[in-house]
Amino acid sequence: MKKNRTDVVSDLTQYYKEKGIVPNNFTCKKCNLSKENFKQGAQCHIGNNYGNGVMRTLVVSLDCGGKSVVDDIDKVTAAVEGWTQAKNPQNIHRIRTNSMVADLLGIKVADDNGKYYATTNACKCCRSKSMNQMNEKYFKNCAEYKLEEIVKLDPDVVYFQGNRARIGVTFKKVETCPKELSDYIRHLTINDKKYWSVICIHPSARGSHSERAKEFYTNIIPKINAYIRSVQN
Ligand SMILES: [Zn+2]
Repeated sequence: MKKNRTDVVSDLTQYYKEKGIVPNNFTCKKCNLSKENFKQGAQCHIGNNYGNGVMRTLVVSLDCGGKSVVDDIDKVTAAVEGWTQAKNPQNIHRIRTNSMVADLLGIKVADDNGKYYATTNACKCCRSKSMNQMNEKYFKNCAEYKLEEIVKLDPDVVYFQGNRARIGVTFKKVETCPKELSDYIRHLTINDKKYWSVICIHPSARGSHSERAKEFYTNIIPKINAYIRSVQN
């Protein structure tokens, strides 16, 4: 029996409290960053309909940077839902992620907008001023928080967006999936529990990768989602 959203939120809140994961005041012992230069400790967003009659869907991404100032899950969630519902602030990251999840769950994009899934940052330690990605070593140091978030969110499927989102994660190939999807579909095992996982190119990949990202989110994701639905039902 899966925990409901309220229990997930309270479990994770407790975990964040134990580890001191709050914006602006996080002391990650492994990264050991100076407080003046780093804004840290972003908590996750958990859509208000997370797991509510649909697959529990988690997106692990790379959004480091100084924009997380709110200090609890419900406030992060309200902020995310606010951005996605407002007219213009949607970026290609959110647009593609919303469409990806709506396609998986068989709901209208307009009805999803972050309400049906959870997102978290792969790295808890980020620069306060720059929106650039952190170096690999920080993702590695912070990986334990991401893994514990996955355990507590107990998702049916996890999308990992971008190479660095997967740092510190061990996957197994899924031999039974269609060959054309074998680069993307994996099992992630934590404490003997298996999570269906999808290796995604980052939705806002730039330069020479931008065409690949477009192709991935337009043509490959629907096939991956169809497969995930077929193994979950
Ligand atoms: Zn850290």
